[in-house]
Amino acid sequence: MNASQVDVVGVVGAGTMGNGIAHVFALAGIDVVLADAEPEALDRARSKIEKNLSRQLSKNRIDAAEARAALERVRTETELETLASAPLVVEAVPENRDLKLEIFGRLDELCSQETVLASNTSSISITDIAGSVSRPQRFIGMHFMNPVPMMQLVEVIRGLETDDETTELTLSLCQRVGKTPVEVNDFPGFVSNRILMPMINEAVYCLLEGVAQPEAIDTVMKLGMNHPMGPLALADLIGLDTCLFIMQVLHRDLGDGKYRPCPLLAKYVAAGRLGRKTGRGFYDYSDA
Ligand code: NAD
Repeated sequence: MNASQVDVVGVVGAGTMGNGIAHVFALAGIDVVLADAEPEALDRARSKIEKNLSRQLSKNRIDAAEARAALERVRTETELETLASAPLVVEAVPENRDLKLEIFGRLDELCSQETVLASNTSSISITDIAGSVSRPQRFIGMHFMNPVPMMQLVEVIRGLETDDETTELTLSLCQRVGKTPVEVNDFPGFVSNRILMPMINEAVYCLLEGVAQPEAIDTVMKLGMNHPMGPLALADLIGLDTCLFIMQVLHRDLGDGKYRPCPLLAKYVAAGRLGRKTGRGFYDYSDA
């Protein structure tokens, strides 16, 4: 099978990432079966896809017929059985190893041995998840970036057993949906979070040690390094709990003290200051 023959994909998990992944496949002319355990999550995902397509339409990036056709290509389902015939299934359920192993265990039973199983995990080892299925050579990481319809990159992560055919298919499928894939090997944090999260963590250390105030830290990185967003504002957007979790994975799995999560980051998470989603992180969003 090559990428041009893929006419349907399954997506499991219709949250922040899943709805965006469904959006980009559907817009590229591929039917999508979007599955989620919660019917309300599927309703929210459909509204979100519709809203994001309307935004692309208003910016003349797509026309009305393309937007309508894309929405019609997304079928929402609550049962995993409905994904059984898809040649590729992308998983985007919460970042919990046990949950992912359970989902892939079911998919492994339901789908043909030829089906490529992909995970959008940001920190769990691809080799580790692949070890739980009967086809580790057909298992791969597809790490989309948030917001998926806007971000160009997909980090494509080969597990130890991932074969060349699976990698080629995944890389060319990313290109077919208008993304730029970058192939990386399976190491904690891959490339994206291995570099991004220690930078954010270091910015939090700067705050903890009184090197500068949050606005000053972010301004240095925006104006001095041409980053579109400062690291603390970015951490608020990602969620401080997610940042802490990924630093803990890097620290544990790479075993190097340089990845020690900043105590101030842990303190904010303990206090429920998780960033934009709770109205407060390094900045206050109560009026937003
Ligand atoms: P989310 O919480 O927004 O969405 C997860 C969805 O999975 C929810 O709709 C939930 O109802 C559904 N779900 C939970 N259990 C399920 C089950 N048993 N069967 C079917 N559906 C189930 O999560 P998210 O932010 O979209 O993250 C998904 C994955 O993508 C995670 O592995 C995360 O690490 C990764 N990721 C997230 C981001 C990000 O910025 N949010 C970026 C890159 C990668």
